[in-house]
Amino acid sequence: MSDGTEKTVLITGASSGIGQATAVRLAAAGYRVVLGARRTERLAELAEQIRGAGGSAEYRALDVTDAEDFRAFVEFALERYDRVDVVINNAGVMPLSTLDAGLLDEWNRMIDVNIRGVLHGIAAALPLMRAQGHGHFVNVASIGAHEVVPSAAVYCGTKYAVWAISEGLRQESGGDVRVSVVSPGVTESELADSISDPEAAAGMREYRKVALPASAIADAIAYAVSQPSEVDVNEIVVRPAATR
Ligand code: NDP
Repeated sequence: MSDGTEKTVLITGASSGIGQATAVRLAAAGYRVVLGARRTERLAELAEQIRGAGGSAEYRALDVTDAEDFRAFVEFALERYDRVDVVINNAGVMPLSTLDAGLLDEWNRMIDVNIRGVLHGIAAALPLMRAQGHGHFVNVASIGAHEVVPSAAVYCGTKYAVWAISEGLRQESGGDVRVSVVSPGVTESELADSISDPEAAAGMREYRKVALPASAIADAIAYAVSQPSEVDVNEIVVRPAATR
């Protein structure tokens, strides 16, 4: 992977799990990474680690549920690096529960972060990419964008939406803006920590025994990002071999 030089990649949800692993992976390949999340102390550590290894990283607090904040994040990247080549819409939450539980606040949080967060990223960066004449969105969906399981109705609904929005953007883009969906199966991260429903949490603990390392998803993202401009990787689905 050698096309990284000069390219600027914005990564949401870079403070843990897949986002963090992706930042490390892309920075090692020469990309200039701009890290966003709410926990800035973690971003500061990660940026320091990347710079210590010879890479280039900047970070800024970002709440993807706030459209203005996302715009400011893109502005920040432009100020620091003069260009925005790739936006990785990776931030996500997954407080699983059955619909019977009626946990409206958790449903709304998933909608706000997983769907609105992606739309805010598109709204903030698409005009700039159009003006530049090139750009690339990598939207992290899930195998939950393809199949629904009990206790994951709302989460899967948000990921179906990410898939649909990405596909619509790809069809509208006319080739100047590429769109890749990366859909992970179960992967080591902090994603399951926010599950408040005891039954859903127990089910997830069992499922996570075969979790992939986050670096496996970072590799898939790096593959999509590193393709030449005429190649648009539409979707990569990565599951643990032990799951069906
Ligand atoms: P983590 O919980 O480890 O990471 C989630 C990241 O999202 C954190 O960095 C968190 O940062 C960030 N985030 C959450 N809310 C916001 C917000 N409002 N604004 C900005 N950032 C936010 O989980 P993963 O690494 O697993 O998740 C990454 C993506 O991968 C998600 O979209 C998830 O749905 C998807 N995925 C994960 C799978 C898995 O098994 N791990 C499987 C399929 C898909 P902070 O709290 O600091 O803001």
